[in-house]
Amino acid sequence: MDTSAGEKVALITTESLTKRYRVGGHDLLATDNVSITINQGEFVAIIGESGSGKSTLLQLLGGLDKPTSGSVTIGGVDITNLSDGKLSKFRSQTIGFVFQSFYLQPFLTLRRNIEVAAMPSRMKRAARRARTDELAEQVGLTDRLGYYPRQLSGGQIQRVAIARALFNKPPILLADEPTGNLDSQNSRGIIALFRDVCRTLGTTVVVVTHSREIATMADRVVMVKDGAVV
Ligand code: ADP
Ligand code: MG
Repeated sequence: MDTSAGEKVALITTESLTKRYRVGGHDLLATDNVSITINQGEFVAIIGESGSGKSTLLQLLGGLDKPTSGSVTIGGVDITNLSDGKLSKFRSQTIGFVFQSFYLQPFLTLRRNIEVAAMPSRMKRAARRARTDELAEQVGLTDRLGYYPRQLSGGQIQRVAIARALFNKPPILLADEPTGNLDSQNSRGIIALFRDVCRTLGTTVVVVTHSREIATMADRVVMVKDGAVV
């Protein structure tokens, strides 16, 4: 048995994960009996057609939504059984989200937009500034920290969203179509950034995309169809 480099440690495990919506008197299986394991330090792409259940699956993996049945375990913690308060604390310590629903505040500079992430941890001002400078450097936006979101390109906005998600050094980064509105060159840049974070910090990265080209840059591709992993 190979116990040296390449050893796999499960970080996120789902068991028979199911999410059912009741729409107009019909049952819709948005997530259908999904049992998958994502390893520590792995970079996984979730792909599938629009409406196939990618976002629902990602939200369940991140504890933003409760499954109808089945479970999600992260680092040995079954998050499906946590109270809302405990879950929210667990999420803030464990997961960075790059989701369209948590976009940038238009009236705050980039620096402030990134520092918003520090609030739950009540970091001192100097430490917050230092962390923001470090992240800006990492995502290549050092000379833009005084700008407002409307003064940035789509690719730059994504970089700010990623910097913010990384603020508290989460072991897991979840991103829902982070390249959705970008051209292919900017898309590759964003995915390269995720890869870099994964390789240098050991962060486990799960990215939803509808682009097969993007998916080829991941360690593993999980294909979703009609809510099921195929
Ligand atoms: P994708 O991200 O792959 O486009 P989603 O996970 O957003 O797919 O949606 C999967 C299916 O679940 C779709 O048919 C969608 O209409 C349905 N769905 C998603 N969220 C809800 C909801 N809150 N209520 C009812 N149906 C939903
Ligand atoms: Mg989606």
